[in-house]
Amino acid sequence: MSESIIVTRFAPSPTGHLHVGGARTALLNWAYARGHGGKFLLRIEDTDQTRSTAAAERAILDDLKWLGLDWDNADDEPRQSQRLDLYNDHMRRLLEADRAYEDDGAVRFRMPDHDVVVVDQVLGEVRVPAGQTEDFVIRKRDGFPTYHFAVVVDDADMGVTHVIRGQEHLSNAPKHVALQQALGLPTPVYAHIPLIFNPDGSKMSKRDKAKTARAAALQSDLKARGLPSPGLNDALGDFLDKKTDDLDIALAIAAELNLQLPEIDVSDFQKSGYFPAVLCNYLALLGWNPGGDVEKFDNAFLCERFDFNRVGKKNAKFDREKLLAFNGDAIREMSVSDFATAWRNWCADYRRDFYDQFDEAAFVKLAEAYHQRTRVFSEACDMAKFFVEDFDGYDDKAVKKNLLKNDGEGLNALRQFRDELAALDPFDGAAAHELIKSFCERTGIGMGKVAQPLRIAVSGSAVTPPIDLTLDLLGRDTTLGRVDRCLEVYAADA
Ligand code: GLU
Repeated sequence: MSESIIVTRFAPSPTGHLHVGGARTALLNWAYARGHGGKFLLRIEDTDQTRSTAAAERAILDDLKWLGLDWDNADDEPRQSQRLDLYNDHMRRLLEADRAYEDDGAVRFRMPDHDVVVVDQVLGEVRVPAGQTEDFVIRKRDGFPTYHFAVVVDDADMGVTHVIRGQEHLSNAPKHVALQQALGLPTPVYAHIPLIFNPDGSKMSKRDKAKTARAAALQSDLKARGLPSPGLNDALGDFLDKKTDDLDIALAIAAELNLQLPEIDVSDFQKSGYFPAVLCNYLALLGWNPGGDVEKFDNAFLCERFDFNRVGKKNAKFDREKLLAFNGDAIREMSVSDFATAWRNWCADYRRDFYDQFDEAAFVKLAEAYHQRTRVFSEACDMAKFFVEDFDGYDDKAVKKNLLKNDGEGLNALRQFRDELAALDPFDGAAAHELIKSFCERTGIGMGKVAQPLRIAVSGSAVTPPIDLTLDLLGRDTTLGRVDRCLEVYAADA
């Protein structure tokens, strides 16, 4: 009975954040187990003691939970660093059988003198001829097993029946199969899934952040100007010369140049304001499709349908525009009030400026204004930034067209309207809108001739949500303050 149960696992190394590749691996293992009434297990591969940290482990588990995944050994996930006895038992057997030997304080596995065959559910049969793979280290000098050894022992010990992982591990599989045979352990079913590439053809990796930051820095005056933190600035030269990909330097450059680094880690996507369900949907499509024209689905559908026969052999492309579009579509499918709630909840974690300034009712207004145009929450905040902080400068083109053209026609209208607006009591968006209408009727000035200058004055650009909503959210003081400043700034130009 227990033999027919499917057991999959996700085995992250807690040396950094959970990135999209790892997230996809976890998702597909989870979906396969859940879809087959099996078990999905987690295992912490912390044999690299110098690079593993408890903080990274916690963050990875949090990211998995955020994605909506659960695992069946959540009460006690095995950590490889705590299983040395188990590895040593198996190691002893290999040494005794002369399938392994000591070498310079380490232990090496003796590769067999026959071909090793890996049967892969995606790629078919992979045969490695005898003699092609060198004897490899299975126990390091520090007494810890290497990844190859621990993974084989653990998969067997945990009863893992199916290993779904990225193609970067394909070359490891023959070593694992050879070890399983030498140890008399079963070989799990293997499915190696396609690598994830950037649209420009480069392999997607956590170094992409450094790459993006470096390219932007080299285009800028940053080298002359330097980074504000002396510690980081000392290493800037090395970073620009590609001698280091230090993430802290990349982040400092991004902050200096106001640059958005590409999202790579699950937490990056969280910070940008994607929905976990949409991210899962998109990740599943990287190398798999359910057939037909179906592209949008939830995790329940994925569990039901995911199988190896529709996994591609070729590299998958990570298309951020498509992911953004998916997320935007999900927003459009929500009601305004659900969008408001979700956006507000996200702001509580990532945009305290918005969260602290606006209550629930105000968020509904903001949501109304941006529901149709938003793809991710951070984008909505970017568009709505002028509500929470002053803007940097006026859009020149919009100023020329709407304020200065025809001897300052727009500016004059704004000046005339300003005093009426100041006298409005009580001040609210609907009343302000009525006032614009009546002002235009009385003066014969067109609505746009007042509304557009007003938009520029309060936001810096002619593109804002409807004017009543905009003034409502800004309130009297900010509105009038910005109108007065605009009149002053352009006083000489009209
Ligand atoms: N710890 C390995 C990794 O993070 C797991 C590889 C495997 O699934 O065998 O890549």
